[in-house]
Amino acid sequence: MALSIQQNIPLQAYNSLRLPASAEYFCTVTSEEELCAALDYARQQGLEVTPLGGGSNLVLAGDLKGLVIKLDIRGISSRPQANSVEVCFAAGENWHRAVMDCLDRGWYGLENLSLIPGTVGAAPIQNIGAYGVELADLFVCLRAVEISTGELCTFDAAACQFGYRDSVFKGAFKDQFIILDVTLRLHTQPSINIAYPALQQAAAESGLLVNGSPLDKLTPQLVSELVCRIRSSKLPDPAEIPNAGSFFKNPLVSSTHAQSLLRRYPQMPTFAQPGGQVKIPAAWLIDQCGFKGVSRGPVAVHKHQALVLTHNLNNGGGDGSQLLALAAELQDAVEQRFSIRLETEPRIYGST
Ligand code: FAD
Ligand code: NAP
Repeated sequence: MALSIQQNIPLQAYNSLRLPASAEYFCTVTSEEELCAALDYARQQGLEVTPLGGGSNLVLAGDLKGLVIKLDIRGISSRPQANSVEVCFAAGENWHRAVMDCLDRGWYGLENLSLIPGTVGAAPIQNIGAYGVELADLFVCLRAVEISTGELCTFDAAACQFGYRDSVFKGAFKDQFIILDVTLRLHTQPSINIAYPALQQAAAESGLLVNGSPLDKLTPQLVSELVCRIRSSKLPDPAEIPNAGSFFKNPLVSSTHAQSLLRRYPQMPTFAQPGGQVKIPAAWLIDQCGFKGVSRGPVAVHKHQALVLTHNLNNGGGDGSQLLALAAELQDAVEQRFSIRLETEPRIYGST
């Protein structure tokens, strides 16, 4: 089928915050060939290119110039290994459906990452993580197309430079590649990881632990169900309350900074990191500044989770600049009180 490139396409339905903005040019690609054709077109017309997955980690603060390419390339293939399986997922596969599909096939390791919105192709961009597991733990390699040349490249884990919600695609190679597929190594024997406190507690409450150890009946499927249950109880469903998940990364500070804060705020939660830094939950910092549940017109800090900013569509809704103004208010308040500047997690587009 010939590639269809459209002009002035509204993007409100393509981002989970449901912010109004439009793409100067827009196309959906369902194959590698269509993607290459779209990139050829962009090069010929001198258009900048923005890849789009599920739109769950974006803030559209204005219209997007150039060509927005919605990745809808599908397919899952596998290669058995000793005690494991290498699974290759096309970029347009829905992340949560892929996790469910793997569990059905007896491929384990992704269960803690259940119910994360978005596509597989976007997962390496910020090395998605939750409940004590991150993509990097299972990652083998990815294939990507270089936007400026159309050249196909393969990145192993070292080349991706994964960090805490970070990768080379947010740093040195920002906006330079479109990820085509991602290969992960999954276990063929159940391997349970419920060290994360909220997951431990949920397993204990469900009678799946004895003296802190998981019972045999605690399968990866049950871990996935527990994760989905915890997430649904705490996080607003973007289909009902538009949001982009955590709006800020949890800050990593030096141990000296953490110690000085702990003297003033002994109840502050802290998590020591392997490199010596200390992670402080951004939600706690925002909460301390009294912002939980606060709204500014159509945008708000979620009443159950201070890290999530929401967009109320009633009465016409708002726009990205209102959301960013609220985000800046939170950043300023946290910086003034804790000398920590919160860094936004979603990618901001269209803002000057
Ligand atoms: P998009 O929002 O479409 O894109 C995000 C960025 O990646 C953009 O810069 C885009 O240009 C780029 N991109 C997208 N696809 C490609 C591609 N194929 N090649 C190159 N670049 C690409 N994140 C976590 O890490 N852990 C969580 O637990 C978590 N929970 C969430 C809960 C909720 C309710 C929401 C709304 C979000 C949550 N997120 C979480 C954030 C988000 O789901 C992830 O970052 C996800 O990977 C984004 O996928 P997407 O397809 O929606 O990406
Ligand atoms: P939570 O369980 O209330 O914990 C608050 C924060 O403390 C988390 O952000 C977590 O950091 C940190 N934490 C808790 N226990 C930890 C431990 N044992 N070791 C290291 N860090 C620990 O968090 P929540 O808000 O309900 O989220 C649950 C999980 O889902 C988290 O992993 C979170 O990252 C993930 N999540 C992510 C998004 C997103 O958009 N990025 C949205 C919703 C949920 P980590 O974040 O590093 O785990």
